[in-house]
Amino acid sequence: MHNPAHQAPAASTAGPPAIEVRNLHKSFGEVEVLKGIDFHVDQGEVVCVIGPSGSGKSTLLRCVNRLEEPTSGTVLVEGVDITDPETDLDLVRTRIGMVFQQFNLFPHLSVLRNLTLAQQRAKKRGKAEAVEIARKNLAKVGLAHKEDAFPAQLSGGQQQRVAIARALSMNPDMMLFDEPTSALDPELVGDVLEVMRQLADEGMTMMVVTHEMGFAREVGDRLVFMDGGVVVEQGDPREVLGNPQHERTQAFLSKVL
Ligand code: ADP
Ligand code: MG
Repeated sequence: MHNPAHQAPAASTAGPPAIEVRNLHKSFGEVEVLKGIDFHVDQGEVVCVIGPSGSGKSTLLRCVNRLEEPTSGTVLVEGVDITDPETDLDLVRTRIGMVFQQFNLFPHLSVLRNLTLAQQRAKKRGKAEAVEIARKNLAKVGLAHKEDAFPAQLSGGQQQRVAIARALSMNPDMMLFDEPTSALDPELVGDVLEVMRQLADEGMTMMVVTHEMGFAREVGDRLVFMDGGVVVEQGDPREVLGNPQHERTQAFLSKVL
């Protein structure tokens, strides 16, 4: 087991799962994209999600903070039902850091301002505090020297590390990654994965949609294989990758491994 926080025996004081999805269905028009997903991420757990393009991985991830509205089913974040109209969605979202394939930095703002803006607006932090937190997180991703740069002056890998630092600056309880290295040139992937590995080592709760099977094997506590809008198979990453039980998992892995 890789994740230190995950090694702790389950205590009775342990809270609800970070993420719990029950019988989640999502349709776009006539097309049902998620067909009854049961999925969870425990606190401190690193769960990697793999599967063919179009299998619904991004839609599942986006339903977790209601970037997509579930058609039916339940999504609990730290025990709070985010589909309940009474729920303060803004508050829940501040607990969830998101990192996408496209880094989504503000191109007209410096790196430092990219990291302080949301802190000041959504967390109501003063400038000095926001800057201090931003610098701490830039140092953590190895980019302390780039705080005055603009996104276009950085490599894709550096931009993605800025995006991670930006998400971390909100002090989220969990981080969701949607193919964070898929848009990167191959030689830039490693630095981003290394930052993610470090986060996992520190005990961050993570849901990672990825095609990086090495990362899934080495860093993931659990691996979930999706196909056609359902969870086909899940388990210990080494077992799922080394000895897949389902034909669809075998077919997928034979193409990517
Ligand atoms: P994955 O991330 O596994 O590649 P997605 O969750 O992005 O899969 O997409 C699953 C299916 O849902 C695809 O067929 C995709 O075309 C469709 N889809 C995703 N988002 C939308 C949308 N906003 N409107 C219509 N169809 C969508
Ligand atoms: Mg996707």
